[in-house]
Amino acid sequence: MGRRRRRVLHVVKKTLPKVFTCPNCGMVSVRLQAKQDTTIISCGSCGRSKEVSNQGKEPIDIYNEFVDSFNQEQTGVITPETTPASQSGT
Ligand SMILES: [Zn+2]
Repeated sequence: MGRRRRRVLHVVKKTLPKVFTCPNCGMVSVRLQAKQDTTIISCGSCGRSKEVSNQGKEPIDIYNEFVDSFNQEQTGVITPETTPASQSGT
């Protein structure tokens, strides 16, 4: 009898997704186009795009900026406090 030592190879491959989900249309068709200093992130489905500086950034960071700017736009447009509270009368 012998003890068998099993070598467990733990190779974790980091696979970054090449396409991201679009915050605008919800399709997984957002791609990154790396340029010299900037990366153009754009959705192939709805055409929404943004140019982001890619200095020291991972693709996911650029994607986050893309989503952030979208959310900021959304919160800027939607104003929940538009209900007329006071009505003059009587
Ligand atoms: Zn889209």
